[in-house]
Amino acid sequence: MEAKQYENSLEFARSMDQADPLQSFKQQFHFPEHEGKPVIYFCGNSLGLQPKTVAASIEEELTTWREMAVGGYFGGKNPWLYYHEQLRPSLAKIMGAHEDEVTVMNALTVNLHLLMLSFYKPSAKRYKIMMESGAFPSDQYAIETLVRMHGLDPNDAIIEVAPKDGAKFLKTRDIIYEIEKAGDALAMVMFSGIQYYTGQLFDLSSITQAAHSVGAIAGFDLAHVAGNVPMQLHNWDVDFAAWCSYKYFNAGPGSVAGAFVHEKHAKNTNMNRLGGWWGNPESTRFKMEKGFEPKPTASGWNMSTTQVMNTAALKASLKIFDEAGIDRLRAKSISLTGYLEYLLHELKGLSFEIITPAEPTERGAQLSLYFPQQGKAIQEKMLSKGIVVDYREPGVIRVAPAPMYCSYEDVYRFYEILKNHF
Ligand SMILES: *Cc1c(COP(=O)(O)O)cnc(C)c1O
Repeated sequence: MEAKQYENSLEFARSMDQADPLQSFKQQFHFPEHEGKPVIYFCGNSLGLQPKTVAASIEEELTTWREMAVGGYFGGKNPWLYYHEQLRPSLAKIMGAHEDEVTVMNALTVNLHLLMLSFYKPSAKRYKIMMESGAFPSDQYAIETLVRMHGLDPNDAIIEVAPKDGAKFLKTRDIIYEIEKAGDALAMVMFSGIQYYTGQLFDLSSITQAAHSVGAIAGFDLAHVAGNVPMQLHNWDVDFAAWCSYKYFNAGPGSVAGAFVHEKHAKNTNMNRLGGWWGNPESTRFKMEKGFEPKPTASGWNMSTTQVMNTAALKASLKIFDEAGIDRLRAKSISLTGYLEYLLHELKGLSFEIITPAEPTERGAQLSLYFPQQGKAIQEKMLSKGIVVDYREPGVIRVAPAPMYCSYEDVYRFYEILKNHF
């Protein structure tokens, strides 16, 4: 939507909500309360709200466990032996993958480690890993400890790409320039899909192409992308990716994470990996035989018995994504975040900067606002008015109007507090 089509009024915000085909999805979620009223929740980029259907989904498996005990692996409504496989169709749609290219297992940082162990094969000449500077700490630690594990010096083996000339975010052409400069010393590019701090959405397709053109692997951490921006991982030829399920995917704290392995690798059962019995085909799993033979799919990286209880939470949540449709969610998200941006530009006299790209193709739901003076005070005022936003030093408030359960009126209320109190 063009900025000029927006209007700065509560009536306009309400009319947008009335015309919103996804408006009713808000009712499918539990909201914490503040002074007896549901909060306005802009923290879905950190921990998504609980879908009302999650309890029943977990209860179903508790019942199977209660009534069938070990029989639940092969019996019950959803035999646990295949439990995680039920999630693949929804995930494949959202991530732009074939069903055989996605799986759920473990948690995000664990999956990054397992996938990087398979894909990072440093040689004397080709051993460098490129990442964005200021990446999420867990990703920094994962890559730092990975290169140490190979006996390499992180200062030498890791290339961090930072914005140039005081810019707030990276230009794709600068990333590509750095990849080409690293050339045949570059073993792997491991970027986030959306930068957690600035909210910048990277051009995964161009980065992957550039990485491949110098013979490097392209892997991504999609923590802030999953359930936020639709992907085309298969078509973009991305080698591997991992994400968590507790941010936009609303599957609860520490819930089971996701992984993508492009089929050109997944089909190669000789690829090195750390294996476990849940990576075996189900047909041979309980033969308990010697010799690991992985499935020729992303699930060949599964190691352990499915975490049924929290996978049940993700299953319930993905059902809601199937109903809403990731493309409709994205369309609303572009419009909703655009409205937030429009209203922020209407503010007079408050000193702040939007450090997220203005181009909708370069961001997801989140806008990161840098308030040089009043950041913490603004967050506290918002909380006291029942609006949940996140604060990061020094002065950055991250506002993520998740299209699944946030409305235009919610965004207007946020603006109203800034206008009236600061
Ligand atoms: C949220 C997030 C994580 C968290 O990792 P866990 O292993 O789930 O604790 C890691 N990386 C990025 C980029 C994130 O946004």
